[in-house]
Amino acid sequence: MTQEVTLTLHLQPRNTRTYTYVTIKMLYVGIFVGLVLESWSLPVQNSSLVHQTRLRSKRAYPEHYVKPEDMNAMDKILRVNQCMYVSRGFPLREGDILSSGSRSAIICLGDSCRWPRSVDGFVYVPYIISPVYDDMDRITIETGMLDISSATCVKFVPRTHQANFLNIQSRTGCWSYLGMIGGSQTVSLQSPGCMWSGVAAHELMHALGFVHEQSRSDRDHHVSILWENIIDNQRHNFKKYETNNLNTAYDYSSVMHYGRYAFSEDGGPTIIPKPDPYIPIGQRDGPSLTDIHKINILYNCGGRV
Ligand SMILES: [Zn+2]
Repeated sequence: MTQEVTLTLHLQPRNTRTYTYVTIKMLYVGIFVGLVLESWSLPVQNSSLVHQTRLRSKRAYPEHYVKPEDMNAMDKILRVNQCMYVSRGFPLREGDILSSGSRSAIICLGDSCRWPRSVDGFVYVPYIISPVYDDMDRITIETGMLDISSATCVKFVPRTHQANFLNIQSRTGCWSYLGMIGGSQTVSLQSPGCMWSGVAAHELMHALGFVHEQSRSDRDHHVSILWENIIDNQRHNFKKYETNNLNTAYDYSSVMHYGRYAFSEDGGPTIIPKPDPYIPIGQRDGPSLTDIHKINILYNCGGRV
């Protein structure tokens, strides 16, 4: 192209050559401006820097990056509770465990928070349930109870006169105290947000004394915590504790396991199983076989079901 332009210049009169020279310069300027404008109009997704900045500028919650059909019990709980765990006034730990005030919500050792065993060998957990629930809500909650009681010696029974009992209410959020705290203790299952039998079973397992699976003392052998992806002021939700693991294997499928994106700052994973990062973690259907096994061991069911 340069050769053609030079040849043309030599064959033309001076004033025509000047005109042509200016025209070519304008052409180059036009091409340059066009290239610049084209680069500006590229989709932002092609710019990793811009994309990262945009991602970091927004706060994401599980429903932003987990399809509803893929959400496990804890994802659903965190979605309902998100307005609570960003508020400083509500003492929720790990997203859905309420401190009793009289003791740490996490320390629940030995018999200190177990429901007592009856003389017949069964463990009866009395409950009352709020009249605000409709029939479907009650069926959902009772299914969560049945998923536990049908395979263990723990039986949820309507309260008659007992001093210690669960008071199941549709308060704001899905949450529970840890273990038996004495007297009336609230289990909040907000309708409709918490109306999943797996969510009910999750909160009931807290009331029986179980913490989240990834809080286990041996969790670092089984999952990696990606601290850099966790919302700044929510890293305390990933502490591990000196737990009694009841000689059971770490259970990725526990209904008590956080989801892969729990408390994610920008949509990146916060928990990754290892060594196989693709193992599914958590679920929402109800207690896993190991969850049931652990209840049987903690309450010394001895085969009574
Ligand atoms: Zn929980």
